[in-house]
Amino acid sequence: MKLYSTNNSVLRVDFKDALFQSLPADRGLYMPEVIPKICEDFLQTIEDHSLPEIAFRVADSLLNESIPSSDLRGIVNDAINFPAPVIRLGDSSHVLELFHGPSLAFKDFGARFMSRVMSYYLKPGEQNLDILVATSGDTGGAVALGFLGVPNTRVTILYPKGKVSAIQQLQLTINQENIRAVEIEGTFDDCQALVKRAFSDPTLSTALRLTSANSINIARLIPQAFYYFYAYAKLKRRRSDGLVFSVPSGNFGNIAAGIIAWRMGLPVKQFLAATNVNDTVPRFLRTGAYHPRRSVKTLSSAMDVGNPSNWARVIDLFKDDQELRTMMTGYSFSDAETSEAIETVYDRFNYVACPHTAIAWMALEKWKAENASTESEGVLLSTAHPCKFPDVFPAHISRAIETPAVVDALMRKAPQLSVPVIQDYETFKKYLMGSR
Ligand SMILES: *Cc1c(COP(=O)(O)O)cnc(C)c1O
Repeated sequence: MKLYSTNNSVLRVDFKDALFQSLPADRGLYMPEVIPKICEDFLQTIEDHSLPEIAFRVADSLLNESIPSSDLRGIVNDAINFPAPVIRLGDSSHVLELFHGPSLAFKDFGARFMSRVMSYYLKPGEQNLDILVATSGDTGGAVALGFLGVPNTRVTILYPKGKVSAIQQLQLTINQENIRAVEIEGTFDDCQALVKRAFSDPTLSTALRLTSANSINIARLIPQAFYYFYAYAKLKRRRSDGLVFSVPSGNFGNIAAGIIAWRMGLPVKQFLAATNVNDTVPRFLRTGAYHPRRSVKTLSSAMDVGNPSNWARVIDLFKDDQELRTMMTGYSFSDAETSEAIETVYDRFNYVACPHTAIAWMALEKWKAENASTESEGVLLSTAHPCKFPDVFPAHISRAIETPAVVDALMRKAPQLSVPVIQDYETFKKYLMGSR
């Protein structure tokens, strides 16, 4: 697999280089030179295959011999060792539950795959890899659990102070072995800006072997294409003319992976970019003007992103603006609407949707209402387990949430260690340099 940069279409690097560099020097994003079509015979019989088998086939096509198939199979089986149930939610709507991994969010797909691929390439005695990750909550937990105990790696997680939930904070700060967390006085965008600045800082990049675990890393994106194929496999018998995927979006990595799956030949009718009031993309789709704004805090905090870092990839994946607009519809919703949707979904289906999932549900309902004449199966991606956001639910719904055993175990863990609070770039840099 060869990759170019969204800022330089003639650049070519190997998968391994893109993996460890994360970002090209020109500050674009790495993209696969070729997006291979998935084997037609495989697509014909995809419903006969398990999630790990589908995952392997998708990864093997994309990576195209960057990792020998037999090794890749082992990596995929180890990374994707939890289910992704597809659950019916009323007429022609289905929830694809992506939160059954260790951190209870879909980011386990990306983080577990990436950590195993990195560890596959690392040789004993090499300089330690310093992994920086900015999180609005879920990425950090997934990366912490994904890299825990992986030799030759040290992970530094940056999260916005006071803006992650209690369970997320626990997942981030258990500070074991090779994982540590710092609190940033500011928003997620500030965390992301510090990480980006660290990467372009020559002193740091000479002294440390820096890499990123954010969704800008191509190795996080690839495994997110797996479950789009899996949803299709599960629903193929119901209808074959393409699915409508409603994707609760923040940094737009998840939806970018869906578009890659579509480019690989997955029949998709429409992608719904569902956001909270941080609506840079829906506004763009409506007005044609792309104007990022500072993010504001909402109930669906993992999507509080004003300047989505994967948008350049989305643009790049479409031939032109026309095709983008044909394939993608944007919707944004307020917190009040989110709370109402959580109640409606619970009342109607006895199903507890996390706030991110509730936004995807609203987008799908809206799209269906606007496209009443088309008969299509809708899949809304459920990105996190509701127990991660206890404060957003009214008491009668909270009571219905089953807390998974992993959370109980976490709650019983030793009290969290104190976490340094960092206000500016210079302090952050000193912190990284000081603790080499
Ligand atoms: C990260 C996250 C999102 C947004 O995904 P992107 O790939 O950044 O668009 C949505 N929901 C949850 C629960 C998340 O953790």
